[in-house]
Amino acid sequence: MTAPTRADAQALDTEDPLAPFRDRFVIHDPEIIYMDGNSLGRLPIETQDRIRSMVAGEWGGQLVRGWDEWLDLPTRAGVSVAALIGALAEEVVVSDSTTVNLFKLASAALDARPGRNVIVTEADNFPTDLYVLQGIARNRGLELRLLDVRPGERADARLVSQVLDEDVALVSLSHVHYRTAALADMPGVTAAVQDAGALMLWDLCHAVGAVPIDLGAARADLAVGCTYKYLNAGPGAPAVLYVRRDLIEELTQPVWGWFGQTDQFAMGPEYHPLPDIRRFLTGTPPIVALAGVEIGARLISEAGIGRLREKSLRLTDLILALHEDWLAPMGFDIGTPRSPDERGAHIALRHAAASDLCRKLIEKGNVIPDFREPDVIRYAPAPIYASFVEVWDAMEKLRELAQIA
Ligand SMILES: *Cc1c(COP(=O)(O)O)cnc(C)c1O
Repeated sequence: MTAPTRADAQALDTEDPLAPFRDRFVIHDPEIIYMDGNSLGRLPIETQDRIRSMVAGEWGGQLVRGWDEWLDLPTRAGVSVAALIGALAEEVVVSDSTTVNLFKLASAALDARPGRNVIVTEADNFPTDLYVLQGIARNRGLELRLLDVRPGERADARLVSQVLDEDVALVSLSHVHYRTAALADMPGVTAAVQDAGALMLWDLCHAVGAVPIDLGAARADLAVGCTYKYLNAGPGAPAVLYVRRDLIEELTQPVWGWFGQTDQFAMGPEYHPLPDIRRFLTGTPPIVALAGVEIGARLISEAGIGRLREKSLRLTDLILALHEDWLAPMGFDIGTPRSPDERGAHIALRHAAASDLCRKLIEKGNVIPDFREPDVIRYAPAPIYASFVEVWDAMEKLRELAQIA
């Protein structure tokens, strides 16, 4: 098979029903090819406008009266995200950071499984996930048991079952792996973990807005996830927190703040958490940052997660095809599972000089990828705004730079 040409990529853009969505984003410099949508999504024009009017009109004009509008933003944003992750509206709230939400839910889960003293996660999980679980294990005197998933493999029921026993209280894994993009088998793993009597906590950071997620169908217990990656909510925008409906009242989180309190403004002396998802809130939410979550999630819903996934697989297929023809002969390798059922929305291109090539892509190629230790260039074309020609050009630049090196 011969490599797809630039004209082939142009033809795919012409036929792309999602192409008009690019115009809904700020494209400050059209020459820059953005392959890093999984680190920080682009800015939606509507969010830029909304944040301007919120700052000037609501903060500047309404002052403290603005809270009449702002108080339900965490639950309203939760409703817009719920639609994308197969959750009920009352099962999701948007608050704090992913790191903090992970701490809250992991702690609550452990309290709900007294007598069990093991937490399971993947050895190569995202660092903050590892650190949070290490800290909890240290504080509580628990064992942190690490699962090995080899590059090109994904977490499934068979693999996870190897580390499960009656001591395991909690398993926490990423739905899409941040480096390899391996897509875990959510229903299979969840069922295996629950069969062992443990609770399952999914990290959706690299999945939400990029792949279809059905927490309800998987009967998932708990989940957290970023909004500033594929949901395009903005740097540091607060994070997703999901608890299955029947578990909400059973779980108590460790950060007892007034936003989780029943009848908050009665200012009572003792903590009595609300009976709904808001019991997982802590303190005053970052209102300006929250504005971007609702808009970002709605944009993804409007484009349709099914259509986005279809385009994303085509974009990444193009990377795989060009890799085969151009890069593999130069010593590159793919660090992502090949099967469409087993990968998320980016491709890990592995090369011994990856770090150097990434720097050159940015400095000389006008391409923004990102580098992950030890040898990975991540190309993450976000399907809502990336084009096929951009992907083709990004691959062509990488080929050029690798030839010179
Ligand atoms: C991006 C990412 C995070 C980031 O957490 P923050 O609290 O927002 O810094 C956490 N976990 C995973 C898997 C991620 O990909």
